[in-house]
Amino acid sequence: MINIPTPSSAPCKLPAAAIPVPGVASKPKPTSALRRRFGDGDNLAYFGGGIFVAVFEEHLRNAVHDSATAVFGQPFAIGGCAIPATVKCGLARYPVHGRNAATLLQYAEGALEKIRERREIAPVRLLAASAADSRGRGLEQRLRLALKHQQFLVHYQPLIERVSGRIIAVEALLRWRDPERGLISPGAFMPALEQTGLIVPLGEWVLSKAVCDCARWLSIGLPKIRVAVNISAQQLTRKDFVGYFLDTLRLARSGPCIDIEITESALLEEPGSLRRTLKALRGEGVRVAIDDFGMAHSSPTRLAEFPVDSLKIDRSFISQLGHQPHSQGVVSTIIALARAYGLRTVAEGVETIQQLEILDALGCEQSQGYLHSPAVPAEELEFLVAARASGAQP
Ligand code: C2E
Ligand code: MG
Ligand code: MG
Repeated sequence: MINIPTPSSAPCKLPAAAIPVPGVASKPKPTSALRRRFGDGDNLAYFGGGIFVAVFEEHLRNAVHDSATAVFGQPFAIGGCAIPATVKCGLARYPVHGRNAATLLQYAEGALEKIRERREIAPVRLLAASAADSRGRGLEQRLRLALKHQQFLVHYQPLIERVSGRIIAVEALLRWRDPERGLISPGAFMPALEQTGLIVPLGEWVLSKAVCDCARWLSIGLPKIRVAVNISAQQLTRKDFVGYFLDTLRLARSGPCIDIEITESALLEEPGSLRRTLKALRGEGVRVAIDDFGMAHSSPTRLAEFPVDSLKIDRSFISQLGHQPHSQGVVSTIIALARAYGLRTVAEGVETIQQLEILDALGCEQSQGYLHSPAVPAEELEFLVAARASGAQP
């Protein structure tokens, strides 16, 4: 992958170093220089933004470097001016870095990104993607590229109302379709998203996707369902969060019903500003759920301090129902606590009829889990919602 400021991508204004040089008009332009080196056929493609992709055999690597230096080491003559070009090449090797074009491009782009970050001013720089790019820092780069190449998806998991058996809400859950590894669940990349701060742009994308899908469901006449998005503490504590969130909701004219899920541990951060954030959102009809409740050992009295609507009982308690005698007592206590604060309860990770029956007996209002459905793509969810609304139990 070769990055050159080509005539088409170069700014209209000539760079300061551009010096009119009479008599250099015969020097080739970057594109024709590349064509001469790699040929006009399938081995060379223009990717836009001053980036070319070239395919060549590994033994030619040194030759590529030498000819790149020979061709790009001197200024190009464009419009009577001598324009110096800096060339950066990110190299990926088949099959070490991948067996298909998409993955090889990701690695090449990763290497190119590294050269850019170094901000060296040598006219020609070549860098091969390293083995480490496939791990650690590589994950960060792959996530950045995944965002750029739109490899993320949102799947939706239904929440079922105990009394009616209907799907009354869905939870938006992020998925990554990695070209090499297939569909990946957030457990594998959420920590990296949090560490790198990528969770902020990605969280914004999830919100806009949920708003679009929700508006579409309303427009095709599906029964109204609320859509809950998970919001990380990093998003929640940003000053512009409320404004951004509400603006995104307003983009859909049909008035989507978007709710948020925040973790219990988020309640421990900057309580004053969090309270204001939640109050502002709830004032606009957004409901707030505390996710994975019971895991962060926060004091129950904190619940009274925050404007929230429901508690989602963590899966670890639900999975023990019917097996561990004390688990029923714990779940029952959480439900009683929720009632005391006027909150609804949702059981997470319900997998068996036995668990559902115990939860029904304890008075848990909603349930979510593989017993009903895993998270599914938006189109599949439309069938589930329509079938449930018509009385069928898919
Ligand atoms: P969560 O918000 O508690 O979501 C519920 C998780 O439990 C989902 O995992 C779901 O697929 C899984 N689950 C649901 N029912 C069952 C069941 O019956 N059995 C089992 N074993 N698992 C079940 P998933 O999709 O892997 O998501 C994991 C976590 O990643 C989520 O937990 C949430 O904390 C986070 N996450 C997912 N999407 C987003 C997002 O867009 N933004 C943020 N900030 N976090 C997200
Ligand atoms: Mg959640
Ligand atoms: Mg949860």
